Amino acid sequence: MSLVDDLHAAGLTGRGGAAFSTAVKIRAAHDHGAHLVVNACDGELGAGKDAWVVEHHLDELARGAALVVGGRRGRRSVRFAAHRGSRTAALLAAAGVDLLEVPGRYVSSEETALVSLAEGGLARPLTKRRPVVTGGQHADGRRIPATVVLNAETLWRVAQVEAHGPGWFRSFGTAAEPGPRLVTVSGAVLRPGVLETSAGVPLADLLDAASPAPAAAHVGVGGLGGILLTVSDARGLRWSTADLAHHGGSVGPGVLEVLDPSRCPLDVVRERLAYAAGESAGQCGPCMFGVPALSAAWDRLAARPDAASRDEVRRHAGLLPGRGACRFPDGVARFAASALTVLAPHLAAHATGSCPRPEVGHRVQHA
Ligand code: SF4
Repeated sequence: MSLVDDLHAAGLTGRGGAAFSTAVKIRAAHDHGAHLVVNACDGELGAGKDAWVVEHHLDELARGAALVVGGRRGRRSVRFAAHRGSRTAALLAAAGVDLLEVPGRYVSSEETALVSLAEGGLARPLTKRRPVVTGGQHADGRRIPATVVLNAETLWRVAQVEAHGPGWFRSFGTAAEPGPRLVTVSGAVLRPGVLETSAGVPLADLLDAASPAPAAAHVGVGGLGGILLTVSDARGLRWSTADLAHHGGSVGPGVLEVLDPSRCPLDVVRERLAYAAGESAGQCGPCMFGVPALSAAWDRLAARPDAASRDEVRRHAGLLPGRGACRFPDGVARFAASALTVLAPHLAAHATGSCPRPEVGHRVQHA
C-alpha cells in the first residue's frame, strides 16, 4: 500500500484543529508537486504540543516530512515554521532545518498566513478561491506555488503510521477519531504539560492527571477558538468531538485550560476578547470592526451584567461567523457565545460584587 492508502486506512486527521483528512491533503500535495511547511507554532492560546513534538520527536517529525515530499526535496522544499524567539525556533535552528520564523501574532500561524510568509509576503491569511495546496496568489497578484501546511503532531503521526501500520494507529481512540493524540493542559493546575492520550477517554482523567485547583469551576477547551465549560460538566464528558459538540466544541487543537478560581471568570473572558480585538489581521471589515465591537460589548456586560448587555454580546457574536477570509472571527464568536451561556449563573454574583475582584495588570500571553 502507498503512504496515502495507509493514512486513509488509519483515518489520520490534522492535529492542528481543523481535523481534515491527512490522506486527502497529502494526495493533493503529491498531485500538485506542493512544497511543505511544517507548522510548529502552537498558534492557539494554551497550546504547547508542537513544541513538545519538536523537543522529543524531531527525528520522527523530520521522517514524516520527508515521507510527504516523497524524497524529492530538491524540487519540493520543506520549511519548519516556529514563532520568532521561541524555544521551538531555537531547537529547530540548532537541528539545522530550514526555519521559517513567524511573528508572534495569533493569526500569523494560520495555514495561508504561513504560505504567504514562506513566499515572501506578510504573515496574514490569504483570500482563498481554492485550497492553497493547489497554489494561490498574493494580494499584489504574484503567484504562490502549491504548498501544503501540516501540523507538527500530524507529521509525527504520519511517521508512526508508516512505521507501525494503520492497524496499530486504529488501536487507539474511537472509530470516528482514531489514533493517539496530544493534549496540552494548563492554567490553575499543579502539573501543567502535554499529555499523550486518545479520543474517548474521560475528560475527568485528563483534568485529574494535571491536578486542578480544588475550587476550579471553569475550563476552556480549544483556546480562543474553542468553548468554555464548567468543570462539573467537563467531568461528565469524554474527550471526543461527539461529546464536546453538545456544547459547541470539538477536540480541536487539543487544549485544556483550567481557569484560576481566584479570578472573576467574566474578567478572564474580557481579557481574552480584548486580546482578540488586537489580533485581527485587519483585512476583512466584519473581523476588523466586529471583533473589537464584541470585545466592547463584553466590557459593558462585565460593568453592568443585565439582560440588555447579554443581548448585545449575543448580537455581536452572531454577526461574526462566516464573514472573514479566515476562521479567526468564527472562533472568537464561538468562544464568546459559549462563555455567555456558561457564565450566565455567575452574572448575579457579579452584579452584587460577590465574585473575585479583577486583577489589574494581568495580561494574556500568546503561546
Ligand atoms: S478574518 Fe480577520 S484575521 Fe482573518 S483574514 Fe480577515 S481580517 Fe484577517
